[in-house]
Amino acid sequence: MSDNKTKKIIKTIRVDVDKCNGCRACEVICSAFHASPKYSSNNPARSRIRIIRDPLTDIYVPVYAGEYTVAECAGRDKYIINGKEYDECAFCRASCPSRDEFKEPDSGLPLKCDMCEGEDEPLCVKWCEADALIYEEREEDIDEAVEQEALEVGLDSLVSKYGLENLMDTVARMSERD
Ligand code: SF4
Ligand code: SF4
Repeated sequence: MSDNKTKKIIKTIRVDVDKCNGCRACEVICSAFHASPKYSSNNPARSRIRIIRDPLTDIYVPVYAGEYTVAECAGRDKYIINGKEYDECAFCRASCPSRDEFKEPDSGLPLKCDMCEGEDEPLCVKWCEADALIYEEREEDIDEAVEQEALEVGLDSLVSKYGLENLMDTVARMSERD
């Protein structure tokens, strides 16, 4: 058993779907915060949160960008809510080869929610006047070796799909932004 345990703050955003009114303020602020330079533009296609909407039945579901995945699933999910059938994979958080969601529109690189690194509180939470997004923090023990291994596996997948040079360019652009 590894004793390389360390404390980590786990950040979560609870989504109260019933309170979301589909205003999309969260998409606007997320894409503006991640623009380069910061706040120079806003384009919901660059947002790390997307609202799946069906205004006719008053259904709005915020979905956060999660992990990048190199291969698509062998099966697909379809949801029916209040009689409306949603597109395949509509509520999936992955940046995946089978669709365009959660990909940077210019480069095609995957987008992932980073909890607005550097901010006291995620900006989508701050901007949600309906209180549909609730920010929470808790402390957990984590195994450093497992974390490092997960990071390496993720980086390997990105390098094999986009090439090292493209990734390095993106990292350089991200550091200029901050
Ligand atoms: S800001 Fe809040 S209410 Fe508006 S779309 Fe986003 S989650 Fe829904
Ligand atoms: S926490 Fe920040 S990065 Fe994540 S979706 Fe909200 S605004 Fe975007």
